[in-house]
This record gives sequence, structure tokens and C-alpha cells, in this order.
Amino acid sequence: MKVLSVASEIYPLIKTGGLADVAGALPLALKPQGIKTRTLVPGYPAVMAALGETTALMDFEDLLGASAQVLEATVAGLDLLVLDAPALFDRAGGPYLDTDGKDYADNWRRFAALSKAGAEIAAGAIAGWQPDLVHVHDWQAGLLPAYLLYGDKPAIPSVMTIHNIAFQGNFSAGIFPELGLPAHAFAVEGIEYYGMVGYLKAGIQTAWAISTVSPSYAEEILTPEFGMGLEGLLSRRTLDLHGIVNGIDTDVWDPAIDPLIHSDYSAADTSARIANKRALEAQFGLHEDDDPLFCVISRLTWQKGMDLVADAVDELVALGGKLAVLGSGDATLVAALREAAARHPGRVAITVGYNEPLSHLMQAGSDAILIPSRFEPCGLTQLYGLRYGCVPVVSRTGGLNDTVIDANPAALASGSATGISFGPVTLDGLKRAIRRTIRLYREPETWAGLQTQGMQSDVSWDKSAALYAKLYSSLLPKGSH
Ligand code: ADP
Repeated sequence: MKVLSVASEIYPLIKTGGLADVAGALPLALKPQGIKTRTLVPGYPAVMAALGETTALMDFEDLLGASAQVLEATVAGLDLLVLDAPALFDRAGGPYLDTDGKDYADNWRRFAALSKAGAEIAAGAIAGWQPDLVHVHDWQAGLLPAYLLYGDKPAIPSVMTIHNIAFQGNFSAGIFPELGLPAHAFAVEGIEYYGMVGYLKAGIQTAWAISTVSPSYAEEILTPEFGMGLEGLLSRRTLDLHGIVNGIDTDVWDPAIDPLIHSDYSAADTSARIANKRALEAQFGLHEDDDPLFCVISRLTWQKGMDLVADAVDELVALGGKLAVLGSGDATLVAALREAAARHPGRVAITVGYNEPLSHLMQAGSDAILIPSRFEPCGLTQLYGLRYGCVPVVSRTGGLNDTVIDANPAALASGSATGISFGPVTLDGLKRAIRRTIRLYREPETWAGLQTQGMQSDVSWDKSAALYAKLYSSLLPKGSH
């Protein structure tokens, strides 16, 4: 089976969040299922710089007003199609934001171009290669199935994956004439969304199937609380909506061979974790002692409950805990966490920024990772935590709910507990969870059981890749694959 995947970021080339991890890991996980994926990504500077030899497969003279080429390249085992359109993607800032942290004013054009190019490729524009199915990720690729639906080519099966419904790509109706879609596409049953053009809405409306990144989130987004306005549309497509939890790349994230940590260890022998803890404490300027060390590795936003962390710090320290934070995001949250660190020198520290190597050491050296998200489509850091024996302390929502088994008395007694989960997501709820975690930490045998049970959970892509393969097959003509 040949699949065209279309994503606006892909690990290890360009990453702002979990989407990149999935876009980078799923093609490799699908290979053993006989599925060959090519991934179309924008030619940002970081992507162009990572390409070795490339071959130009096709040209666009006028792709939403820009000239562009599609280059073929293989990087890190991934078969890429790179949309090289310097006017759209050769910029100094990030994938979506300029150097001042503002959305690029022409994001609508940049990602309509990605979708349009993807639709042409899906329809057979590259000589000798046409996919059996297209898999589009998030709003940045949301217009693609609409371009297919309203185009004049034969229908091609499509799957739209929602990684976070909070990011919808809604733009003013004024852009519509520039998208190159027929006038009747601007309608409720097309891409119109409350008088605007909705890219995610378009994908949800026009893709053959929709998936999201955990079964719990697939349920939650049918409600007004989590659906962010799209719950009505999704509720009309429940039979086409699938929740498939993300896995992680267990080769990149393996404490037994991880070159980014201080000392390697495994579930069979976790004694080297302490050397990682010492290295981490030293790096963060924290006291080197046996008190429980919590960490946060996160975008610092309201979604992630980081305001609650800032408010719970004093209690965490009073209970004898320490905290190391790695993240970037809202200036007010950064300031609040910096103030907390200043109040508790040696016990609380923050590193602001994005630092992949440090995130590995933090999983290897911290005792627990705090993830008090208000909503969490899947979440990856709890999966890394499980794999590294860094016990996840999570709110009971979305993928956190589907991947962490709370250390309640029954789960502890049966040896199935892998973390601590709490709800509702309030300051009190988080404080209670921290108290419970520290109590468990002070029972070494129970704690060791939690750690090893977590390390033995299956966080690989194997099961989920099989579910995606099944979903793909269900959309193809019977007997073709
Ligand atoms: P989201 O995609 O909503 O940000 P996820 O938990 O799904 O949340 O994925 C976040 C990914 O980004 C994880 O791989 C996590 O380790 C990584 N990450 C987040 N913040 C940082 C940071 N400051 N430095 C390094 N890695 C980070």
C-alpha cells in the first residue's frame, strides 16, 4: 500500500510538538505492515539544510502565487517529498511564527499551498507514483481532502488526524477567492466555518475518515467542553471517527542505550538512575539529595496546567520535593515559574527554551514528571516517563487517561499501577496528587514497583501502527490490499 502523508513538521527535521514525533515515527512503524509512506513537508530552512542529495520531481509555476518545486529526498529513513517554495517557507522564524513570536500573516497561503501541492500529488502529478491513500495531519493539511473533493480527479481515500483541536486554522472569508476552489466549496457542508474559512473544519468535513490521538480524546471532542466548536460536526461523523493512541520511537527513547543521558539503565536494574539524578541536579543547580525530584518538560501554557504548577510549587517544596522545569511559552507563566525558582533556590529551577538532549536527561534523572493538562489529545511526555522510570503524575484527561494506570489500592495490589492520575484539574487536585506521589515515593518498594511496571508498559508504535493499517485498509476498495 502506498500512502502520502502530509504534515507541517516532522521529527528529526523540524519539531514544535507531538505532531512532529508522530509524523516521523508512524511511517517507520507502518513499514512492517507493508505500507510505504512518503511524507510531504514544507521546505523550511531546517528541512532544506538536512537534505543530502535531492531530485526535483515536479514544478509549480503558480502555487497560490508562489513558484515551487517538489524535491525527493531520504532523511533518517524517511522518504520525503519536500515542498521547496522559498517565498513561502524560507524564513528566519519558526514553522508558524516569525522571530517576534507572531503568526505569519500569510499562514493561510503557506498551508493552502502545502495542501494544494499534496492534492496534486495524490491525484497523480508525480510521474510513476500515485498513492492509494492520503493521510493529512492537523489544520495545516486540512484543505487537502477539500481540494481532492472539489477537484476533477477520481476520488482518493483520505484520513485526517487531529492532533489538537484547539488549533483550527480559521481565516477570514476574504482569502477564499485565492484558494482556487469552486464557489460552492464555501458552504457549511464545505470549508465555511462560522463565516470564515476553516482549514481543520474543511478536513473534518471532507476527509473519508477522521482520527485523533487517543480513544478518550475521541470521546471528549464530541462535547462542547473539549470540541471547541467542532463538536457538532464531529458528532455527525462518529462512525468515521477513530481514537488511536500515539506510540513513541523506542529506539530514540531507550534508557539502556541513550547517548543523551549520563548513565544507562533498564527495568531489570534501575540503580544507575541515581547517577542521572545527580547529573540533572548539578545541571539545574539543585541540592543533591534523595528528596523526590519532580520535573516538567512542556510548552508553558494554560492547556498544560502550568499556572497550577506555579501555584503548587510552595506546597511541593514544603512537602520535601524538588522541581526542575524545562519549557518555553507564555511570558506570564515563565515569570511565575522564575519567581518560584527564586523563592526556593536549590529546590526549584527552570531552564527556559527548547532542549531535546536535556529532556532525555530529565526523564532519566527525575523521579516523577508532572503533567496536569486541562486537555491532552495524547501527550508524549508521559510515555517517555513510563519508558524511563520517571513516574508520570497526570490529570485524568485524553491520552493521559488512556496510557497511565493510577496507583489506586486495587492497581497497586494487582501490580498494574504505572503512575498517579488525578481529577478534576484544579490546584487542590494537583496538590493532592503531589502529596500522594511523595507518600508513595517514601515507600521504596511500592515506588520501585510503580517504576518497573511503567517501564514494562508497551509504549511502542506496534499496536497503534496495526490499528492505522486496519483503518487504511478499511477505506480501500475491497480486495485491493
Ligand atoms: P504538545 O504536542 O501538546 O506540545 P506532547 O506531549 O504531545 O505535547 O509533545 C511534546 C513533545 O515536545 C515531547 O516530545 C516533549 O518531550 C517535547 N518538549 C516539549 N517542550 C520541550 C522543551 N522545552 N525542550 C525539549 N523538548 C520539549
